Amino acid sequence: MPHDQHSTGPGADEEADAQKWAGAGRARTVVLASPRSFCAGVERAIEVVETLLDQRESTGQPVYVRKQIVHNGHVVRDLEQRGAVFVDRLDAVPDGALVVFSAHGVSPAVRAEARDRGLRVVDATCPLVTKVHSEARRFASRNETVVLIGHAGHEEVEGTLGEAPRSSVLVETVEQVAELDLPEDAGIAYLTQTTLAAEETRDVIAALKDRFPRAHGPGADDICYATTNRQLAVEAVAAEADTVLVVGSANSSNSVRLVEVCRRIGTPAHLIEDAGAIRPEWIADADTVGLTAGASTPPPLVEGVITFLRTLGPVTVAERTTTIEDVRFAPPATVRT
Ligand code: SF4
Repeated sequence: MPHDQHSTGPGADEEADAQKWAGAGRARTVVLASPRSFCAGVERAIEVVETLLDQRESTGQPVYVRKQIVHNGHVVRDLEQRGAVFVDRLDAVPDGALVVFSAHGVSPAVRAEARDRGLRVVDATCPLVTKVHSEARRFASRNETVVLIGHAGHEEVEGTLGEAPRSSVLVETVEQVAELDLPEDAGIAYLTQTTLAAEETRDVIAALKDRFPRAHGPGADDICYATTNRQLAVEAVAAEADTVLVVGSANSSNSVRLVEVCRRIGTPAHLIEDAGAIRPEWIADADTVGLTAGASTPPPLVEGVITFLRTLGPVTVAERTTTIEDVRFAPPATVRT
């Protein structure tokens, strides 16, 4: 049962908690959203690091990874235990060493720094993020202002903005579109972060087109297939669940969006790192618990939630599949060879 690992003995809080857990015991249905968990970009990025760690046996080269390879604490800890060294900045990597760029991508300035330092780079950027980078370069080369719709501070956003820093502006909300200091007839092209909520993004794009009639995008938007599919699947599950548990880390953009999708249609939802984060009050009255996981969450963590719920009472598992995914991305050529 989840507990406070720092407690030294049962106090009033623990007793209250124990009572709540006792009240949470009941028979339940768990409705699993499908697709859920790992996407093709995350699988590829993790495989890159695993392959390099395997090769280290013969090369003896340490494997540095700039930033979290994917936004999941369990994945990072697991790879760390196997020998990967995660760093926030390239200056923590010794000259000439091997470094992996994460699935979220990097700006040209980071690539240039790696080149100047003689680092051996293996790029695990998701191909769908790379596509957004090339769109940014294409639009900027046509002297258009690139309006990137995304979340400030997210690594993917920093990388995309870095492709055309003097031609790009970032907006997150409809309100920020109204504040843009650009002439109405400006040549504007918009791009989106790959892991946004589909509905909110549509609103921001509509506001942009409303204010700047010439604004155009690369097509519909850049929200990736995995983000879209997981949002549609959790929406179907949330419609029949009393509450939804989303397994994912707090810094995982697409996981946070899954929680928002549920709440938008009125179903309570909670983001949990793993089964240990479940609170009894979230599920005490729930006959039907929806369950999903963000694109960076390992599938065993979802199984761990079901196993834990089974300790509270009988569980019937049903799965709701809205799409079958068969996307795979080939590893980078440098790793294949
Ligand atoms: Fe690529 Fe989408 Fe997965 Fe991000 S969530 S790694 S963009 S497939």
